[in-house]
Amino acid sequence: MKDNLLKRNWNGDGKCCICAQNKTVQHMFFECTMARYIWSLVAMVVGVDCGPVSWESFWIWVEMFMPRVVKFHMVGLAGTCWAIWRARNNICFEQKFVRSHTEIVRLASSLISFWAELQTEEEGKALEEGSEALKSAALHFHPRSPSDGSAGTVLLQ
Ligand SMILES: [Zn+2]
Repeated sequence: MKDNLLKRNWNGDGKCCICAQNKTVQHMFFECTMARYIWSLVAMVVGVDCGPVSWESFWIWVEMFMPRVVKFHMVGLAGTCWAIWRARNNICFEQKFVRSHTEIVRLASSLISFWAELQTEEEGKALEEGSEALKSAALHFHPRSPSDGSAGTVLLQ
């Protein structure tokens, strides 16, 4: 990740291209409006009111609310952060707006599905269920509509 940041001339400070607050790694993955929204969808799938707000709180959060699937904590974190990272890069460097939050959640869930294929049948099934639940939650709040071109704007608010 650091290489990517250096390639893109990221010098470790400055303002977030989405919300103009101070840009830190913590901000990009947990505090930015877009990240907070994605984590709130994850929280909803898990069945709780609020998601993790920092790296430290993620580990406490999963231990508290997902104690029976310890093996999946890292893949959940990786999938979610990877999707947030991709969406941020599209917005900040490629000027590609995300059409819908559903796209970001689908990215996260596709990584989780890929991971599921590498697991034993039972564990893979559990991961696949989690991945599907994430997609349904996103679709519930952001049903696909050909005329919906406003979600990119939502990300920038
Ligand atoms: Zn931000």
